[in-house]
Amino acid sequence: MTAYQLLVSGLEQLDLPVDPQAVDKLLRFSDYLLEKNKVMNLTAVTDPQEVVTRHFLDCAALVPYIKEGQTVLDVGTGAGFPGMPLAILCPGAQFTLLDAQSKRIDFLTEVAAMLGLANVTPVHARAEEFAAAHRASFDLATSRAVAELRVLCELALPMVKKGGAFYAMKAADCEDEVGSASQAFAILGAPAAELLRYTVPHDGVERVLVRLQKTADTPDKYPRRFKKIQTNPL
Ligand code: SAM
Repeated sequence: MTAYQLLVSGLEQLDLPVDPQAVDKLLRFSDYLLEKNKVMNLTAVTDPQEVVTRHFLDCAALVPYIKEGQTVLDVGTGAGFPGMPLAILCPGAQFTLLDAQSKRIDFLTEVAAMLGLANVTPVHARAEEFAAAHRASFDLATSRAVAELRVLCELALPMVKKGGAFYAMKAADCEDEVGSASQAFAILGAPAAELLRYTVPHDGVERVLVRLQKTADTPDKYPRRFKKIQTNPL
């Protein structure tokens, strides 16, 4: 199957609408990602079919949880995952794509301009520093492949509004990681983790969205400095 066919059929398998404009933008993003990947380190994936399955269809599993008008922060977005495909698939929501590496943010700025995405704001910053001016500012946060949950929650949850949620994309066998983060969840204001399981279409890989609904404010002392977060996780 071509990348186009995989993408259309994968979106259908996820019960998502297939908007021709969004499909075109995703495939242009993929082409540019693979072209730029030859001269800078953006992704381990090297063929267009794998970009569709391992990046686009994996990230598309989050689409049903994003509502029109919501603000979404993608922590440690790297080359734009899950934030960029979500911004293309959810044009009615606003996405802030945050990463500590300026070259990746420059790349995402170019992609947003090339595709005319008015709902994407790439930001070069460390999450624990960005949080100081953006406490309780986003309806949702997302993150994939950035850090273990105890660390990740301290980076992301302070920036989520009370009543909002943080979706951490994890491997199917994440139960121990979730279990060891239960104290962190409670301290940071999102005590109950839900595990939403899904299978990536055409890849067959099982994955989990760890959903943390924020029910209380995060105490002002979090996030701490990154060294402290790492050496003494909650
Ligand atoms: N989320 C992307 C994905 O799934 O392909 C990228 C994953 S990459 C392995 C991890 C990214 O997280 C890197 O681009 C790194 O710069 C970023 N990162 C790690 N710690 C961070 C922090 N404290 N604040 C902002 N970005 C961070």
